Formats: sequence, structure tokens, C-alpha cells
Amino acid sequence: MKRLSNFFFKKLEATSLDKTSRVVSKIHTCTIHDQSAGSKILQNIKALEYCITCNIGMCYTCSNEHFDENHQVDWGYDIFKYLESPVNSDNEHFNEGCQTTFDLDDLKCPCGRKIKDSQFSTMCAACGSWTCSAQCHEDFIQSKGKCLFIRNFLENEETASIQGMRNIMYINIEAMHRDDLPQYMPCTRVSPKFMKAMLGPKKGTVTVQRGFRQYGQPVQETLDAIVDIVDDTENDPYFDHHKERLCQCTCEYCAEASPHPVHNCAYLCRKLEKIDLKMEKELGLDQICQCICSNCFGMPTHARIDCIYHCNSSKFRHRFE
Ligand SMILES: [Zn+2]
Ligand SMILES: [Zn+2]
Ligand SMILES: [Zn+2]
Ligand SMILES: [Zn+2]
Ligand SMILES: [Zn+2]
Ligand SMILES: [Zn+2]
Ligand SMILES: [Zn+2]
Ligand SMILES: [Zn+2]
Repeated sequence: MKRLSNFFFKKLEATSLDKTSRVVSKIHTCTIHDQSAGSKILQNIKALEYCITCNIGMCYTCSNEHFDENHQVDWGYDIFKYLESPVNSDNEHFNEGCQTTFDLDDLKCPCGRKIKDSQFSTMCAACGSWTCSAQCHEDFIQSKGKCLFIRNFLENEETASIQGMRNIMYINIEAMHRDDLPQYMPCTRVSPKFMKAMLGPKKGTVTVQRGFRQYGQPVQETLDAIVDIVDDTENDPYFDHHKERLCQCTCEYCAEASPHPVHNCAYLCRKLEKIDLKMEKELGLDQICQCICSNCFGMPTHARIDCIYHCNSSKFRHRFE
């Protein structure tokens, strides 16, 4: 499997100048989502990302939907320039989305306080670090440029209190373990594009799978609390089912694109030489084709898989052009 450090360095080189200037000119608040409906926070999100398929700039929340629709999205400009590389192989496996179990019993915040001794302890779903308070995330991580999630927001009074995405809460994990809930029970509502967190095998443990939205590396204290990583990804159904994990493919398309989830590049990945039954179902290609393009219209009733290389509206057509 390709190592992430190379992956991100490649990203830096790949940010060509014209792409960069195009994105730069779009950095203002996002005009796509409904800003009137939400909190003040929604009014302060920058349009940092760029959907190449739709040719429009937007914020990370809006672009998440475009990732889901298999669009090609560039989100590199203001994030990867500043992202640190993973420090060790645990860090790399964690970033790849392997099941990673942390033992929180002895884990300390960078300030020295034990994670279990504070009711405000969280893991930040954006950078992956455990801290005992928002203040510690600020002092040891965000203000040091180690959690880049904040770059999505305009800097003003309304956004001054944003500290990464401190949403994986220790007190939840502890309470769920106390209730003897089973292993793998989800213990956060944070988007799996950032992280999935589930109860670990025993009290005081949590199992996390990282998604493709990565805004920093966990601090050393957090990395030291890793007690298990399932890096045999071939035989791990949890790995396979985690569709929001970072695509590690090195093909011509995937290596050039911004970090994207494994489901995003279905139509574009050059390694997809053969579509198997599972993929066929996932993409809905087993269904009857309803297209009325000149190629499909002339064919007898057929499934969408039968015309993927001929149909004028097929997303696979580019592969043979
Ligand atoms: Zn789009
Ligand atoms: Zn938006
Ligand atoms: Zn602390
Ligand atoms: Zn963070
Ligand atoms: Zn890919
Ligand atoms: Zn690929
Ligand atoms: Zn057709
Ligand atoms: Zn067609």
C-alpha cells in the first residue's frame, strides 16, 4: 500500500498555478448553502473548495455532496500546503482508515492532565488528537497550526470559539461502556467523512476509523495510546465497508486528484479494469437502461451495464475516448 507521506507531497506538486489562482479568487463565504437557515457558523464558512465537474467554488460542507455524486473536487489549496506528514507507521495506518483502537485509561492531554479526569475531553475528528479541553486544543494544537480545520472559516468574533471538530466525547464513551453496550457500537454522530468512532473491545477503549477529511496528525500522546491497528485490510470487513476512507490508489487519475473517498472515483479510477458484480449493483448498473440517446434507443431493452461504453450519458465513456 502506498504511504501517505508520498501521497501528500505529490499533492503539493500537483497544485498547478492556474488551478491555484482559480481557487484563490473564490475564497469568500460560500454562496451555495442556505446561510439564512443555519447558525452564525454557516454564514462564516469560506468557499475554499472547487468542484471541477461543476466548475464552481464552495465550502467543505457543500462539496461533500459533490464527492458523493462522484464529482471531481479540488480542496487542496489552502490546506495541504500546511499539513504535516504522518510521523510513524501507526499514524499512516490510522490515516488509511484502518480500525485503530485507543486505550484512554492512561492517555494524557498534552497539558499533562489525564483524559479520563476531565468531562470536556474529546478526540478532534479533524486532526485526531485527544485533549482535555477546548483551551488545550487551542494552546497545543490549533494555535500551532496542527489542526487546519479552522481554515475553513472566516476569522471573526463568531468563529473565535471554533476548536477543530472536538466531537468524539470521552464522557459518551465512558457512559456507554458503563451501560455494557457492545463493541463496535457507534459513539459519535460526527460524519464518517471525518471519523467513525465505535466502542472498543473493553472499558476505556475506543476504536476509530479515519475518513478522507484529514486536517492534521494526532499528537504524540494520542499516537502512544494506540493499542491495536487492524492493518490486514484484505480480511477486515470493517475496512471494506468504510467507504469514506481515503483512496490510496496510485493511478493516473487518483494520484492527481485531491484526497477523495474510495467511493468517489468509481468512474474515473484507471485501475478499475473490470467491473465486478458487487460494483455493478453499487452503481445501479444492473437496472434497466432508460436512456433515449441515439445509441441506447437503437438497442433492445438492456441493463445499464450493457451500454456503459456506448451510451452518450454514461460516466464511463471517457475511458474509451
Ligand atoms: Zn460538482
Ligand atoms: Zn457551502
Ligand atoms: Zn489539557
Ligand atoms: Zn483538531
Ligand atoms: Zn481514487
Ligand atoms: Zn485510481
Ligand atoms: Zn443504455
Ligand atoms: Zn444512452
